[in-house]
Amino acid sequence: MKKKLFIPGPVSVKEDVLAQMTKAIIGHRTVAASDLQRSISEKLQRIFYTKNRIILSTSSGTALMEGAIRSFTKKRAAVFSNGFFGDLWHEMALRNNIEADLFRAKKGKPITSEMVDSVLSTGKYDLITITHNETSSGITNPIEEISEVIKKYPEIVWLVDGVSSIGGIKLEVDKLGIDVCIASTQKCLGLPPGMAIASVSEKAIERARSIDFRGYYLDFLELYETIEKMDYQYISTPALPMMNAIDYQLNKILNEGLENRFKRHETLGNIVRDWAKKYFPLYTEEAYSSNTVTTIENSLNMDIDLLNKMLEKRGFEISNGYGNLRDKTFRIGHMADCTVEELEELIDNLDEIIRIKFCKASA
Ligand SMILES: *Cc1c(COP(=O)(O)O)cnc(C)c1O
Repeated sequence: MKKKLFIPGPVSVKEDVLAQMTKAIIGHRTVAASDLQRSISEKLQRIFYTKNRIILSTSSGTALMEGAIRSFTKKRAAVFSNGFFGDLWHEMALRNNIEADLFRAKKGKPITSEMVDSVLSTGKYDLITITHNETSSGITNPIEEISEVIKKYPEIVWLVDGVSSIGGIKLEVDKLGIDVCIASTQKCLGLPPGMAIASVSEKAIERARSIDFRGYYLDFLELYETIEKMDYQYISTPALPMMNAIDYQLNKILNEGLENRFKRHETLGNIVRDWAKKYFPLYTEEAYSSNTVTTIENSLNMDIDLLNKMLEKRGFEISNGYGNLRDKTFRIGHMADCTVEELEELIDNLDEIIRIKFCKASA
């Protein structure tokens, strides 16, 4: 039986989108490849709300995160985190011999503009990273307020992890002044895993020019200049079947309309939160709860693996907590092309299983 995935990536992909990947392979140094990749790039600029150049990478989002912190930190990076993916930037910096400090928000709380201001006012940093939507803790950080503070520090290159928000929660790259914004195909964009995307500002590229040892495959300057010089072609052979699926799915996203898409995600978020609160506390302060993934405290001490086995028989899959939250929380992903009807079907099934199996007393 085919399972519907309600995990925070990879997401279920529609048949017509998958079918695009079976088209005949074309050469990567052809006009057709340039045309396809230009078309993708222009659509992504609309989805990222940016005029900045778009870079595609045949890798997952993690790779571009590592490439970015390495390509753009000259002095010292300030990494802000409220969970696993935020912490990851710090780990990557250290493993690449890049000076970096980690600043964590309190449990279930967002990163605040005050936190960012007090760190940047030390003058020690020339790069900061923010996770827009932290997929482990289910928090959407108040990026607009944070952007106001960052604008006071023109020397800062600002990297944003938009992996679980781009295509699901509005993120206006140019308006906010984000220098590098990173996404993956397998989250809110509703595509198979396999490629990562970044928008890159001129300011960031100027910084990269002054930095030695940026590596090769993930060197943002190399990526940027190659696309410019070679008419939207890449340094090496990209995952061309993915390119077909991306181009096709981006049309579907733009046809739905970005505002409609964000609104749909908001509705999905509200449905899950309202349901969850009947049984459990939300892990995250509600005002900052994500509209693409909900992290719920496992206060009934359910065996999440057993819950998932029972869901599997009914054709669904949800997710355990991430890292050290594995058993303390569980997560429901509601991103990409998920409809209200599909989500309600999941919730009806969850309701039944939880009542029968995990909270007999209150049934
Ligand atoms: C999934 C995810 C990542 C990692 O992306 P991959 O494409 O799996 O490498 C990074 N950050 C966030 C917020 C994510 O949700």
